[in-house]
Formats: sequence, C-alpha cells, structure tokens
Amino acid sequence: MSKEVCTVCNGTGKVKCDECWGDCHIDCETCAGSGLVDGVKCSECDGTGQMDCYTCDSTGEIKCFQCNGTGKASI
Ligand SMILES: [Zn+2]
Ligand SMILES: [Zn+2]
Ligand SMILES: [Zn+2]
Repeated sequence: MSKEVCTVCNGTGKVKCDECWGDCHIDCETCAGSGLVDGVKCSECDGTGQMDCYTCDSTGEIKCFQCNGTGKASI
C-alpha cells in the first residue's frame, strides 16, 4: 500500500550492469581482453580486446531486478 521508493535502484528502475559495471563493454572472452590470440589479431573482437556487453545491450544499465524497472518498492 505504501509508495516506497525501491532502495536497490533509488527509484530509477535501473541498476548498473553487473557484467560490465557501466562500461558498456566487456573483455573479449576469446583473447581475454588482449586483442591477440597466439600473437595474431583476435577475429572475435577484431583486435580491440573488447566486446559489446550483451547483458545491458551496451547501455551500462539493466532493469532493476528488485522492482522490475518500476522504481517502486513492491512491499
Ligand atoms: Zn528498483
Ligand atoms: Zn578478442
Ligand atoms: Zn553491461
């Protein structure tokens, strides 16, 4: 019945992506972020060592799991 604000996201409905921590990019798994595989440019990330974060779709934020993106406390 109360209109409490969700404490997890502070009412924004979004939380920082726990995969990239807001960076929007994650280390390439194939080359472990080095950009090289056996001394050759990694084809997976094209030598950048980074991949777009698929968890947050490269926005750096994901929907709050606590309030399901509403920003309001459910209880
Ligand atoms: Zn929330
Ligand atoms: Zn790579
Ligand atoms: Zn992310």
